[in-house]
Amino acid sequence: MKAMERYWNPVLETLPREQLQKLQFKKFHNIFKWAYEHSKFYYKLYSDAGIEPGDIRTFDDIRKVSKVEKSMLRAIQGKEPYPYGDILCVPLEQVTEYHQTTGTTGQPVFQADTWQDWEWCAESWAYILYAQGYRNRDRVFLPFGYSTAIAFWQAHYALEKIGCEVIPGGVLNTEARILKMQELRATALMATPTYVLGMADVARRKLGIDPAKDLQIKKITVAGESGGSIPATRKRMEEAWGAKVYDHVGATEIGAWSFECTYQSGLHVNDALFLVEIEDTDTGELITEPGRKGKMVITAFDRIAQPCIRFDSKDIIQWSPDKCQCGRTFRLIKGGVIGRADDITKVKGVLLAPTSIEEVVRSIPELGDEYEVLVTKKGDIDDITLKVELLPGQESKTDLVKTKLTDQLRLKTNLGYNLEFHKYNTLPRYDVKSKRFKDLRHKE
Ligand SMILES: [Zn+2]
Repeated sequence: MKAMERYWNPVLETLPREQLQKLQFKKFHNIFKWAYEHSKFYYKLYSDAGIEPGDIRTFDDIRKVSKVEKSMLRAIQGKEPYPYGDILCVPLEQVTEYHQTTGTTGQPVFQADTWQDWEWCAESWAYILYAQGYRNRDRVFLPFGYSTAIAFWQAHYALEKIGCEVIPGGVLNTEARILKMQELRATALMATPTYVLGMADVARRKLGIDPAKDLQIKKITVAGESGGSIPATRKRMEEAWGAKVYDHVGATEIGAWSFECTYQSGLHVNDALFLVEIEDTDTGELITEPGRKGKMVITAFDRIAQPCIRFDSKDIIQWSPDKCQCGRTFRLIKGGVIGRADDITKVKGVLLAPTSIEEVVRSIPELGDEYEVLVTKKGDIDDITLKVELLPGQESKTDLVKTKLTDQLRLKTNLGYNLEFHKYNTLPRYDVKSKRFKDLRHKE
């Protein structure tokens, strides 16, 4: 592929780091000044902290700017201008799009966008899709009713912007979606990792269709869960569909800030549209070197109705030491979003990221895709149970699998588990996002 055909925006995606940082500073300053001058919420936040646009003179000064947390966004909504509250920087008349967060971590946050913002949203997704090889020859199936969730609406418009043909598969059930993909010879698909695996299972069991052989899906973009960046889960999806699987991470309040390219060497941060900072969760110190985990503080530069400036996302990420062969100068993060500062929990005094359990379960070929983790308390002691399913025909291997699981879990998570083996297809199945990790301790 010629270099210029590889990038959606050849200039920005290959800009030398020094120039990229200059651009980031300029853009940060613009959005900061815009919010200070147009939003009562931001004006008060910054005035209370004694900071104004004139104080931000260098790139390092950005760290003086107050952070925003989700709880603050929830506290102002429901007030005038209704329902967004005084974070809004434009008159309500200019708002053309309503979306909301999925509410997995509490009351949904409302998101207002102007038409200009919406064009920007499609643009930010176009970087992702183009980097993953989507072109105007693709026919893309979206097996969801997108409703008020933003990601697949953005993807839909971005696909059209690139010139792809989009098939919205919202009202169909899973079987009908698979048959539609087959009938129309869809070449690509977007879904959560849970649903990508779930659809393949339904295709094989209920329709006798092997997605890898009988469908023409060549690429799958996943979102909404960490599975796309967990090697064992990615491998299962790629084998089930005979397709390449690419991860992307975004958030309603911020935008689609990262993407994997066809080289699959980690998530590129879109440094031209966002500023990603990684902070030590204890000290708040800025982390610039690879390999050290911290929480992400993120700014979207160009979204004007309801700006998101230095948002404390609580997502745990780390910089990658690698350089991607694609030639983009955008930085890479390794292993996707490893967890959220809120869900990385202590069990028996050990820090546990639920994604590491997934990595172990999905790397054992005798096990099905589903699993469930229950954390409870017996007296003062934490107790952790892992429920798994053996694939049909593998029932005689229970002892072997038990040994593999125990050893791998000990190695990856430093914990011992009660293991329960369940009959295939008896653990709960989820359509969109899974709820496989259940911490029941605080309820007892
Ligand atoms: Zn790359």
